[in-house]
Amino acid sequence: MKSVENFKIILLGSQAVGKTSLLEKYVKNTFTIKYKATIGVDFLSKCIDLDNTKYSLQIWDTAGQEAFQSLSTHFYRGSDACVIVFDITSSKTFDSVSNWIDEIQFHIGYDRKIPMLVIGNKLDLNEKRVVNSQKAKQWCEEHGIMYYECSAMTGQNIEEAFINLVKAIDVFN
Ligand code: GDP
Ligand code: MG
Repeated sequence: MKSVENFKIILLGSQAVGKTSLLEKYVKNTFTIKYKATIGVDFLSKCIDLDNTKYSLQIWDTAGQEAFQSLSTHFYRGSDACVIVFDITSSKTFDSVSNWIDEIQFHIGYDRKIPMLVIGNKLDLNEKRVVNSQKAKQWCEEHGIMYYECSAMTGQNIEEAFINLVKAIDVFN
């Protein structure tokens, strides 16, 4: 008989980096060019099968409360993993990644560790890139964080990124 694992994953990062777009592409396989201030719900769910285990992922998105300290404890509570998104064409969104990590650690408690994934999004705009791929990767490695570059527009690497995050949750638990 198959076992089912329920995981809560939170999506964070500066405004307009593509959090909602990544979530919608991953869960619904849709993409629209307009800015999506809110998806109107706290989270979207997706089920995946991995190594004979069924995973039910509850992926939480922010509804435009990307300013630091504006998200309530409710958002962070019970999270099993987190994804911090930045935009490879905006250096300030990469600079904010470490602030988001501090914020997450503050809310979940400094004694608790959860797997973290950083996504450099908008890989389809590679010719406008300002964040160096190797530097971002190295920074993440030094902090024990997984790193992927994805495109919510094309869908590139999104599945791989989430699969590896889910595998990491299993290792952490
Ligand atoms: P959020 O504020 O982080 O949730 O960002 P959104 O998902 O609302 O996206 C902000 C803007 O960036 C929208 O205009 C999206 O269409 C656009 N966008 C998001 N992801 C990508 C991507 O991978 N490539 C490109 N070219 N645009 C993207
Ligand atoms: Mg959004």
